[in-house]
Amino acid sequence: MATDLDSGFDTLDPRTGEVLAHLPEHGPGEVAAAVARAREAFGAWSALGFDQRLDHVLAVRDLLIDRIDQVVDVICSETGKLEPEALSAEVLATCELIEHYRKYGAKALRSEKVPVGSLLPHKRAWRSYEPMGVVGVISPWNYPLTLAMTPVVSALLAGNTVVLKPSEVTPLVGLEIGRLFAEAGPHPDIVQVVTGGGPTGDALVRAGVQKVAFTGSVRTGKQVMEAAAETLTPVLLELGGKDPMIVCDDADIERAASGAVWGAFMNAGQTCMSVERVYVDDAVYDRFVDLVVDRAKAVRQGRGPGHDIGSMSFGPQVDTVERHVADAEAKGAKVLTGGRRVPGRPGLWYEPTVLVDVDHSMDVMRDETFGPVLPIMRVRDDEEAVRLANDSRYGLNSSVWSADDQRAEQIARAIEAGNVCINDCMVSYAVAGLPFGGVKESGIGRIHGVEGLRAFCNTKSVLASRFDLRREVQWFPLPAWVTRSLRRIVRLRYRRGLRAKLQR
Ligand code: NAD
Repeated sequence: MATDLDSGFDTLDPRTGEVLAHLPEHGPGEVAAAVARAREAFGAWSALGFDQRLDHVLAVRDLLIDRIDQVVDVICSETGKLEPEALSAEVLATCELIEHYRKYGAKALRSEKVPVGSLLPHKRAWRSYEPMGVVGVISPWNYPLTLAMTPVVSALLAGNTVVLKPSEVTPLVGLEIGRLFAEAGPHPDIVQVVTGGGPTGDALVRAGVQKVAFTGSVRTGKQVMEAAAETLTPVLLELGGKDPMIVCDDADIERAASGAVWGAFMNAGQTCMSVERVYVDDAVYDRFVDLVVDRAKAVRQGRGPGHDIGSMSFGPQVDTVERHVADAEAKGAKVLTGGRRVPGRPGLWYEPTVLVDVDHSMDVMRDETFGPVLPIMRVRDDEEAVRLANDSRYGLNSSVWSADDQRAEQIARAIEAGNVCINDCMVSYAVAGLPFGGVKESGIGRIHGVEGLRAFCNTKSVLASRFDLRREVQWFPLPAWVTRSLRRIVRLRYRRGLRAKLQR
């Protein structure tokens, strides 16, 4: 395909720095053409019933499973993650989301009767969930399969067609997704893929799509929202996090320590819901820190089987990690383990790192680090823990660890976040029926669950007559008795208590 911009870009293997492919940087012309193809496909696709759309999506899942080795290989080579991470958080999560909507999707999109109230008893009303048109999906590099497939599948099942712009760090995964949809059945044009970086994403936002589903950083999310505001294009924003973990004095400390290490280092800490900061009750702080350090030292980092985590994925992200650790150390934090790139190893390898003596003056406690760094802070009590957890512009996921269900639930209610796990972390995402998304600067809108399908619908409200009167009461000419009756109706219907109703 001819491109507007002849520059193009390379995609790299972060484990080695090797160039995997050179791809076109699609400009506004190609993006517009992709949107036009998706719009062309919209008519036939949106006219299908949910079951027929589901059939196509299930055929895509079958093909994904047939090609599982190839897809996992592409994911691992573009992100540096290990096979089990690609299989679980990417392939399994995608299959499970489709399974959830196979079972519950039709119900979520069914028209619903709405009570008409007593003012219009001769009417009937319902709301229906209508497809919007073409949805632009812009996805990040950290989970390049599932974070693209989730909005793509949800938008398609709701009757839309899609233009996907995968991250420029992981475009080959995006192209695999395009091939799956093109080859799975008789609707080859319902998912278009364009490649490129920020300018390509920006062109997609401005290309006249009916909704933009963006997953990425807060900074880019704000730019997307600003561009979308020009045409009042609605946006779904799944943005970054600085997820707090609160460990109470009655928590199972062994379990909490293992959870913290997994939550902070899984996928080399590059998960929007990674444990990014821990607040531990003074009474159990020392033991917790000792256990975490032991377990962090035992994390096996490398390529292939026998390892727990792989490399990081994106060079500038490693720079952010280095900057946060250096800033923390300069302000008095102590590195108990890690704190540097893996010595002598080419590629993007940073050691699992535990920091203590941290406070909220440090970037590592305020900004998203998005790498294998676990800062731990001592707190007096639950109240201080919640206050510090909420002292953040983010609000994505969070966790609270306590043996007392009531106490944990009370803290869970007080944490300002879209999602909370009790005595676990991150895994709420794996329950596809639970709506997922952020509050504060972590985003707008929800994926997964009923909300995740309706996010790609226009709610249409319909009113019809059960039977037609010769004329409606409010029509012209207005009879004089209408004004008198309206006063009486208001009093009789809405005053509370019989005596009040009868009073003039
Ligand atoms: P990013 O914001 O740099 O890029 C995300 C996507 O936006 C990429 O495809 C990029 O090319 C595109 N883009 C860049 N500039 C654009 C512009 N002006 N207009 C339109 N598109 C543009 O994010 P990233 O580094 O790829 O991903 C990591 C971030 O994503 C982290 O902050 C992480 O927390 C967040 N994230 C959030 C979730 C969630 O569900 N809330 C999930 C995963 C990642």
